[in-house]
Amino acid sequence: MSGDGLTLQGLYLLGKERLSALPGGKDNSPMEAGFLWEKALGLGWRERLLRGDDPVPEGGAAAFFDLVARRLAGEPLQYLLGEWEFYGLPFAVGPGVLIPRPETELLVDRALEGAEGCPSPALLDLCSGSGCVPVALGNKLPEARVWGVELSPQALGYFRRNIERNRAGNVTAVAGDVFALPEEVTGRRYRVITANPPYIPRGELAGLQAEVRREPALALDGGEDGLDFYRRLPALCLPLLEPGGWLVFEIGEDQGEAVAGFLQSTGYGEVQVRRDLSGLERQVSGRRPL
Ligand code: GLN
Repeated sequence: MSGDGLTLQGLYLLGKERLSALPGGKDNSPMEAGFLWEKALGLGWRERLLRGDDPVPEGGAAAFFDLVARRLAGEPLQYLLGEWEFYGLPFAVGPGVLIPRPETELLVDRALEGAEGCPSPALLDLCSGSGCVPVALGNKLPEARVWGVELSPQALGYFRRNIERNRAGNVTAVAGDVFALPEEVTGRRYRVITANPPYIPRGELAGLQAEVRREPALALDGGEDGLDFYRRLPALCLPLLEPGGWLVFEIGEDQGEAVAGFLQSTGYGEVQVRRDLSGLERQVSGRRPL
């Protein structure tokens, strides 16, 4: 059986119609249907425009409607695609790893600023998940060496695949707990340490949107008030930084004051809170005094 008499464009339109039922403020159905259509058919978006009247190849409609149904049942788009872009690079994602968020690109921007003027800096990323931050840093700074620490074996699997996928030979994925850092990373000093740790207050996890609840709680649960990692990491990171080196955290939108306070009381200087493109507090950075 071919595609039940459907054309390539007709199939897309049917999927888009179904996906417009997804909850949420903004109707993303054109974008989501487009991505899932490409995934199911193995075709690019140009082909939908250029060959929209062609019949759907055998099995194509079933594959597409299966993805649409899974999406409607709450699976994140990015998990269904198996890959998502961050900092202009492709990252393998799926169940068991946090999906790279566009806001997190700010962490990379800030780390690049911190590494400016250093010919071959050592950089460390904590709670690396998919590896999006360390791999982006390694890609932008080919002369740097970058280490990323991740606790979850599942996430580490993605991290390692993403190093290969992006041929980031200067990035090393290290299995470990950031509160008991392995010797492999404590034996040197870093120009910049980055972290996007779990920062959602535990009581808010159950109320997150359905897609986020499909992501690993380990990557989201920041303890009672969401601040567990920010309380402990500044002191652990200080001796690992070069004098003049930077600690850069991603934070939740109402955590700026608290996290800045933790850095200040630990002895960091030049402590700064920065906002993201939506105007929300998204980053705290500080510097180990010279
Ligand atoms: N930004 C993520 C969210 O809002 C949280 C990521 C984290 O806890 N580090 O879902």
